[in-house]
Amino acid sequence: MASTRTRTPTANAPPAAAAILPALARDMLAALGEDPEREGLRSTPRRVSESLRFLTSGYGVDLQKLVNGAIFDGPADEMVVVRDIELYSLCEHHLLPFFGKCHVGYLPRGRILGLSKVPRIVDAFAHRLQVQERLTMQIAEAIMETVKPLGVGVVIEANHLCMMMRGVQKQNSRAVTSCMLGGFKKDERTRGEFLSFIR
Ligand code: ZN
Repeated sequence: MASTRTRTPTANAPPAAAAILPALARDMLAALGEDPEREGLRSTPRRVSESLRFLTSGYGVDLQKLVNGAIFDGPADEMVVVRDIELYSLCEHHLLPFFGKCHVGYLPRGRILGLSKVPRIVDAFAHRLQVQERLTMQIAEAIMETVKPLGVGVVIEANHLCMMMRGVQKQNSRAVTSCMLGGFKKDERTRGEFLSFIR
């Protein structure tokens, strides 16, 4: 069913998503037995394309650029916690959403990150095709890499539509994943302090 009609044969680079996605979405509608020409569906391929490009826009994000200018001198040893960050991502197995909350904590080594940048780092990785475990790890590693703190903890609690709408059809099961690096991994008290903040 893959449509290659707009693919340029010259380059190895992937064809521009904006050019190829509407045709693919249209083919998918037809394959599902729908009539892509009927009134309600006429603009759907364009909308699906725009929506998918937004939901995967994290691939193009340059982390250093994202935090540029928002790293400040700050106190060492006082834990910074940003909790209940809204999270929306797409599972890479079904392309269905998973969504929930992300909690991020770190122990500065004299450098702190502008608070609004923490959710933007979360989005940079959530806006890709993901599994929750890897997303959790990538957020923690990104904080580690950009802020170079003494330690990082990230916890994600999320509901997966691929489990809720299909498959096991469990509406109330939430997946919880965590990644602890540096002091959060080694020091039980640091980890405990973080976990008490997000409880
Ligand atoms: Zn899934």
